[in-house]
Amino acid sequence: MRSVIFKEGLFLDIMWSRRDNIDYSLDRRATLLALFRGAASAMDACDADPYLKRAAKHHGESTIRPCPVCKKIEIKELRYAFGDQLGQYSGRIKSIPELDEMQNEYGEFRVYTVEVCLDCGWNHLIYSFLLGDGRTRKAPRKIHTLEDDDWKPAKELKSWHLHEKSLRGR
Ligand SMILES: [Zn+2]
Repeated sequence: MRSVIFKEGLFLDIMWSRRDNIDYSLDRRATLLALFRGAASAMDACDADPYLKRAAKHHGESTIRPCPVCKKIEIKELRYAFGDQLGQYSGRIKSIPELDEMQNEYGEFRVYTVEVCLDCGWNHLIYSFLLGDGRTRKAPRKIHTLEDDDWKPAKELKSWHLHEKSLRGR
């Protein structure tokens, strides 16, 4: 367990502009409790769609913590960046070094970390925070890229993001 904590600490430490953290562990616990009590089915909780699983397999960062549902060590973490200033690139998966660079390139964007089990399909948002140097910039002009044809943000993540936006709008 120690190395996970160390790695996580390292990741959070290099993010100098990190602020406005939201921890989703209570929500995660509630989902797991509902599952273990039988109030929710594994179909609902372990519903990573093939796209999300594929993204986790190819772009996810490995962890050594077991899956809370199937107990296998197949948990991967994905980080998505969302923000108006990212323009068409909002909603994409970013690596830690990419996020580190982006802190200096954008004023504000939110990073969502999602855990995905490659084995049983369990997936949940773990935490999110804002990054960026605080200087507002215009979104880059839209250009067509090959990725556009092949890209769709995970639908769950899109709805979390919109949900959070509506909460903040109040
Ligand atoms: Zn699992």
